[in-house]
Amino acid sequence: MTGAMAPMKPLSALDLCDRCGAQAYVRVVLPGGGELLFCAHHGRQHGEALARIAAEIQDETDRLSPGKTAEAPSR
Ligand SMILES: [Zn+2]
Repeated sequence: MTGAMAPMKPLSALDLCDRCGAQAYVRVVLPGGGELLFCAHHGRQHGEALARIAAEIQDETDRLSPGKTAEAPSR
């Protein structure tokens, strides 16, 4: 086991961007314990500002990368 913090739950289709309501791929944990959710677009757009205030950033935008089909082998 590594780290003292509880592992964060993976983002799901039920997690929506606070800005536009699209599916969230970035979770920003605030020092006070609050959470912000962003889609890949807004996570990137606000990334610099968020990195300054966030206690932790969970970035799952790599799940969006085209060409990676780790979970669904073609044969
Ligand atoms: Zn968004």
